[in-house]
Amino acid sequence: AKKSGRSVVRLYNDSMDESVRFRRRIEGGLSQAIAQGELSLAYQPIVAGDAMEVVGFEALLRWRTEEFGPISPALFIPIAEESNLIHELGDWVLDEALTVLVDWPGQYVSINFSPRQFRRQNFVGYVMERVQRAGISPNRVQIEITETAIFDNAERAAETLYKLRQMGFRIALDDFGTGYSSLYNIRKFALDCLKIDKSFIDGMGRERESAAIVQSIVHLGKALGLGVVAEGVETEAQVQALRVAGASHLQGYYFSRPVPAEEAKALANERFIG
Ligand code: C2E
Ligand code: CA
Ligand code: CA
Ligand code: CA
Repeated sequence: AKKSGRSVVRLYNDSMDESVRFRRRIEGGLSQAIAQGELSLAYQPIVAGDAMEVVGFEALLRWRTEEFGPISPALFIPIAEESNLIHELGDWVLDEALTVLVDWPGQYVSINFSPRQFRRQNFVGYVMERVQRAGISPNRVQIEITETAIFDNAERAAETLYKLRQMGFRIALDDFGTGYSSLYNIRKFALDCLKIDKSFIDGMGRERESAAIVQSIVHLGKALGLGVVAEGVETEAQVQALRVAGASHLQGYYFSRPVPAEEAKALANERFIG
């Protein structure tokens, strides 16, 4: 087998390149996804813990390709985030969510912004311009950012958040508890709420530690005058425990999966029984 050496090398390279090729494919697909109409937004209700009424919706990006079917944003967002694609996607998400808001009664829409989007030049001007163009009041828009987005350059982030909040936007700190934020530093940021990561909610019924963490985040939120949104709420038992703990908002499959705008609108006046 005179060529065996060569094919071993080639095989080795193949497996090394697999993830690279996969990424390229995702990137290539994503860059055409907008033009080909493969993107959509799904909306998941955010429910007030006390009145159990829908007060807002989180917009979540969906990508369905002809070749692979639906692809999870948990997979493609990080890839887009490593290139300028995230800006194209982000522009599309923002404009689409704002368009839907125009004939949506009352509630706010909560929109995810990646760290790279948040750190762009003049993020405030960028968002404000698009919101004004859509004729939407900023207080109907909640901006979701993660700890990573703000702790890299805390001074600058604090200023950006301050300005956004001055203009009337709501600010949510997403995936709270999973990053490396110091609790002490949280108070420097103009925020409206902390979103407790699903992993803590999952653990609540199983282990005392998770329940204790959830409780302390709620206390922290109260002390700082912030709402606390529990994410990934799936069971009645979690709903009860979170209401007892004092979470101001609940979100999860228990109430609804993320659904297309029309379906979400039908949930807008729902009152859930606790
Ligand atoms: P995230 O912002 O933390 O969003 C919450 C995720 O949990 C969503 O996953 C949602 O569908 C899922 N979820 C909600 N309730 C439940 C539940 O009760 N049980 C379970 N198992 N899951 C639940 P999704 O839609 O797959 O999004 C994954 C992540 O992708 C998001 O996490 C967010 O980081 C990112 N993402 C989604 N849409 C956008 C977007 O428009 N822009 C940016 N930058 N990121 C986005
Ligand atoms: Ca989010
Ligand atoms: Ca989250
Ligand atoms: Ca998450």
